[in-house]
Amino acid sequence: MHVKSATFVKSAVRPEHYPPADRPEIAFAGRSNVGKSSLINCLVNRRRLVKTSNTPGRTQLINFFDVNDALHFVDLPGYGYARVPASVQRNWRPMVEAYLAGRPTLRAVVLILDIRRTPRAEDLELRTWLASHSLAALPILTKADKFSRQQQGKQLRGVAESLGRDPESLILFSAKSGQGREAVWQAIDRLLPDPPPTDTEGTTP
Ligand code: GDP
Repeated sequence: MHVKSATFVKSAVRPEHYPPADRPEIAFAGRSNVGKSSLINCLVNRRRLVKTSNTPGRTQLINFFDVNDALHFVDLPGYGYARVPASVQRNWRPMVEAYLAGRPTLRAVVLILDIRRTPRAEDLELRTWLASHSLAALPILTKADKFSRQQQGKQLRGVAESLGRDPESLILFSAKSGQGREAVWQAIDRLLPDPPPTDTEGTTP
């Protein structure tokens, strides 16, 4: 997709505060500090549309962004950060599950993993939860620049095995080098409904 515009729409905690469900949505989820903000910013060619935070895990809001007036990117709060107060951690699950289970326009959840690490319990739980709700998960291994191409392949096969997925279904990505950006967009494009045909005949008055 050629990104012409990308704008912040709003932050929400509860469904009554979400923007209207009037366009397809792609949600982004991952552990705090995994590189989620950097991935979204790279996809939309903006340096700071999503602000990277020095205190990961503090912000517990669902952030909606519009891309090309055609779809929403939905930035879900990061999980698994040990220094987040227990009360905040307890709120994560109902807030995120309410969104994931109740949003009719949600097409897929990008599951962001650090290429250097084996998926943790929270990552696997989310993958299982998405599958049990028949929601498509798109796993992306980020920070690929940390490894040589050969090592990337090895890591990818290991992570695919722990996720129980075909290695072909995982995408290697680096916000630093741009590796994988096109592949991520192609995967997202495949998940979006075909746009309505444009009327090139000029038959309407
Ligand atoms: P978030 O908390 O998941 O939104 O993560 P951020 O996007 O804020 O990134 C967390 C840290 O990882 C920052 O220091 C980033 O500079 C770094 N980072 C993010 N993506 C990459 C990447 O692709 N490669 C490398 N080497 N570092 C990255």
